[in-house]
Amino acid sequence: MKSVKTLTAGQHALLEADLQQRQRQLGARLREHHGGLSRAEHAREVLLQDGDDAPQREGERELDMALSDMETLELAAVGRALERLQDGSYGLCASCDAEIPFDRLKAEPWALRCVACETQAEAAAKRR
Ligand SMILES: [Zn+2]
Repeated sequence: MKSVKTLTAGQHALLEADLQQRQRQLGARLREHHGGLSRAEHAREVLLQDGDDAPQREGERELDMALSDMETLELAAVGRALERLQDGSYGLCASCDAEIPFDRLKAEPWALRCVACETQAEAAAKRR
């Protein structure tokens, strides 16, 4: 299997520590958001709280859900990156197998694709 040669052991360890820290942060934040409730229960509870200030709550609920969605997605990406660190495929673009530069990984340790493929994937997602 192809593996990354440009990352030093030190850089590897740094990124792994970043990812683990991020995973803990996101996990804690999501638990806090939901107060231990599942997503569906959470949504229902927010709905039941609706009263005279419903229009305002509408916006808050959307924001809350959007934030949770983002965090859930990011947490999944962080988990995937940690798996890839274990199996040695970390740092390789999931689409074209090119090595992702350390600078990009440093800014976004859970990045799965090189910039070119990520841009293409985002454009494709928008077209859908
Ligand atoms: Zn690529």
